[in-house]
Amino acid sequence: MPDGSANTKPHALPGASDRAPPAAPARTLRDPAALVRAGLVPADAASGLERLAETYAIAVPPAVQALIDRADPADPIARQYIPDVAELDTAPQERSDPTSDAPFTPVRGVVHRYPDRALLKPLLACPVYCRFCFRREVVGPDGGLLSEAELEAALDWFAATPEVREAILTGGDPLMLSPRRLGHIIRRLSAIPHLDIIRLHSRVPVAAPERITPDLLAALETEKALFLCVHANHAREFAGPARAALRALAGAGVALLGQSVLLRGVNNSPEALGELFRAMLAARVKPYYLHQLDRAPGTARFEVPISEGRAILRALRGRLTGLAWPTYVLDLPGGAGKAPLGPDFAVADGADWLVEGPLDGVPQRHAAPPG
Ligand SMILES: *Cc1c(COP(=O)(O)O)cnc(C)c1O
Ligand code: SF4
Repeated sequence: MPDGSANTKPHALPGASDRAPPAAPARTLRDPAALVRAGLVPADAASGLERLAETYAIAVPPAVQALIDRADPADPIARQYIPDVAELDTAPQERSDPTSDAPFTPVRGVVHRYPDRALLKPLLACPVYCRFCFRREVVGPDGGLLSEAELEAALDWFAATPEVREAILTGGDPLMLSPRRLGHIIRRLSAIPHLDIIRLHSRVPVAAPERITPDLLAALETEKALFLCVHANHAREFAGPARAALRALAGAGVALLGQSVLLRGVNNSPEALGELFRAMLAARVKPYYLHQLDRAPGTARFEVPISEGRAILRALRGRLTGLAWPTYVLDLPGGAGKAPLGPDFAVADGADWLVEGPLDGVPQRHAAPPG
């Protein structure tokens, strides 16, 4: 993998720190005692967190530990990954399986909800466990790895379903697979004539960039269009090692997209969200989706109202390169799909439209065409 320092550029944006992070500690922290020893939670919080750890997985890998500012009690990196006892309280609006994967599962490991594309979930392990995760009740280090036979059955389902043109590898995180196993999946999918696109959703490039090795890049070789959608929620997640990993992926012909969740205390301001999108683009990642929080159990502290999300994006329109603009979506409960949430700049006025200028905020009448 290229050296992270090769990516250091003097014109880097504030927030996308170019300074080499401190020498990364070697181990992934997986339980409350380890978090206490690492100085990431106070000792008196450990017993409450032990209870939480019985329900929800914890992992804070070295690359993420290196990004956390321990002097900042409201650090936006820590807030995403360090568990909090508030997660044990389920708010009335929250539900299990908020995106309703279960009823749309034709064979184990596959979710087919939209006609032209389907998810393949080969495993449920992730490099890091996000405290706001919509699949938080099922993801974990030892859950959900498909057996060889189940994986073959899932791949056979793709081969036998010609209306599906795109296979989306998610989980869990598909880049947690060994290069050998991932390579097998990519080769099997590549041999299916009706598939045009293979897409992977992953946090590995930012949370465990050391996994982007030459072997892993070789496993991603395909003649299909290959997209990798990188999950990140704060500009500081694009530090040197992440940027080097992304550059290596881009160099291997992988098209890079970004996916974020709008999160209270992490990115819910025009400044924070704008810096996130700029950091993504500087790392060659095109912002694709900004998700409204899925109401999974114990995630209420992260929710930002839709009205605030629309106002933040409205403030960014015209101020940020158009490349930065994501689609702001809510994945509706019950499997009804991802609905765009705006903001809209056009309102109907009879047959005319009143269209607001992003730069001056002034609505202009766009008359209906004559006749
Ligand atoms: C989100 C999702 C997709 C991908 O949707 P896009 O709008 O194409 O990004 C596909 N299938 C399922 C079940 C999903 O939840
Ligand atoms: S990486 Fe994705 S699936 Fe894994 S814990 Fe985070 S949000 Fe959930």
